[in-house]
Amino acid sequence: MNRALLDLQLLDSAIQNATREKSRLDDGTPARATLGELETQLAQTREEAATVAATRAKAEGDLEAAETKIERQKKRVMTVSSAHEISALERDIEGLSRMRGELDETILIAMDEGETLAAKVAKEEKQVEVARAKAEQIEAEFKAQTELLDKRVAGKKAERPPVIAKLSNEDKTRYSEGYKRHGGVAVAHVEGGSCSACGAEILPFTLREAKTAEFPTCEGCGRLLWVE
Ligand SMILES: [Zn+2]
Repeated sequence: MNRALLDLQLLDSAIQNATREKSRLDDGTPARATLGELETQLAQTREEAATVAATRAKAEGDLEAAETKIERQKKRVMTVSSAHEISALERDIEGLSRMRGELDETILIAMDEGETLAAKVAKEEKQVEVARAKAEQIEAEFKAQTELLDKRVAGKKAERPPVIAKLSNEDKTRYSEGYKRHGGVAVAHVEGGSCSACGAEILPFTLREAKTAEFPTCEGCGRLLWVE
């Protein structure tokens, strides 16, 4: 049997392996999706924090206005003489004071929530950073591995023509038929006394025959069998 048949098979198997390996590479899509989810979560938390900050700012403004008003009414109490006016002003001051208490409470709650949210934002920023680094790393690895495998395939493909040149027409026909029939492996060889493709034991008789036969085959799978 023509040794070039096995050589061609070894090249084609190497091409198949590299192609399969390439198709299994992680291109970083899952890591990008995780990053996207974390970014969405972070944006949401930042929005919550902004809402709380706005609530606090408004309450602080209202508090300042209420205090100014209280001071003004207190001064007015000193200047008016009618009992009716005095009691009206005192009722007003009382109402404003109650409002001031409520605003104080609102501000305290907002400060508390703001602190919690600030911590949450910091934590989520860290998570986004880690997830982004991971996605970028996977993508870089994917790129490097893809280039490597493409190079390997190109190299093996370049080696094919000189090997094919050594084949007869019948060799070529047998090879391409076997290639189609046996899932891309037309030629097997003996490995530890067995067929490298199907694992069937190669009997000594077959071995002896194979050395001289033009197209020896494995009794197990029917592939062409190369014997040294
Ligand atoms: Zn076999």
